[in-house]
Amino acid sequence: MNKETATKNLDNVITKVEGARLRISEHHIVKIIGISKYSTSQDIKTLYEAGQRAFGENKVQDLKQKMEELDDLPIEWHFVGTLQKNKINNLIDLNPTLIHSLDSLELAVELNKKLEAKNKKLSALLQINSAYEETKSGVLPEIAVEVYKQILELCPNIVLKGVMSIGAHVEDEKIIKESFKTTKKIYDELVPFGAKYCSMGMSSDFELAITCGSNMIRVGSTLFKEK
Ligand SMILES: *Cc1c(COP(=O)(O)O)cnc(C)c1O
Repeated sequence: MNKETATKNLDNVITKVEGARLRISEHHIVKIIGISKYSTSQDIKTLYEAGQRAFGENKVQDLKQKMEELDDLPIEWHFVGTLQKNKINNLIDLNPTLIHSLDSLELAVELNKKLEAKNKKLSALLQINSAYEETKSGVLPEIAVEVYKQILELCPNIVLKGVMSIGAHVEDEKIIKESFKTTKKIYDELVPFGAKYCSMGMSSDFELAITCGSNMIRVGSTLFKEK
């Protein structure tokens, strides 16, 4: 990806984010995470130079490699993928800014145990399966608030900062919107318990997600596209 393309892609996303967030309020700030899982470190660097500062990966090994290759840049790294138990220690050692994909109480307890042993803390979001899709990770909406409070109580080394969700994988915008609204409602319930981020919206649906209240979007393909 050349510099012109990176600038154009980023400007495009920012313009759309601006349009969507202003429909909510001028005080509604949205953070953009560039999901670089299908891209090279060189492309990340080009986007960094165009002004994008936060990037996310979905595999611990890829996160490690890209962090190493780009360690001269002060990039804010996020982890958004399914976390396997045998990769927890590796992820802790990478010290990402935010894990978006804490998807069960069991995983939280395991992560907390390993954080305790290393005397470290990590920030994370609880992933919610608001679309009720079997192929997706996350806790079901009905138990999300309860699980969030249990993690707060049982996992002092995890700094819970909100929720994450992937929009329904369908064409019908009404159904996607419903899944975002479900997540937003849970987020609102958790704000009194310290929730700050409602991470939802990807390349195909981030404007809709923002109008439903998302304040953190994860965009990959549209940010890294070549044309
Ligand atoms: C890949 C991925 C994204 C970005 O998807 P695009 O459709 O390319 O924008 C966002 N969130 C998660 C969890 C992902 O795995």
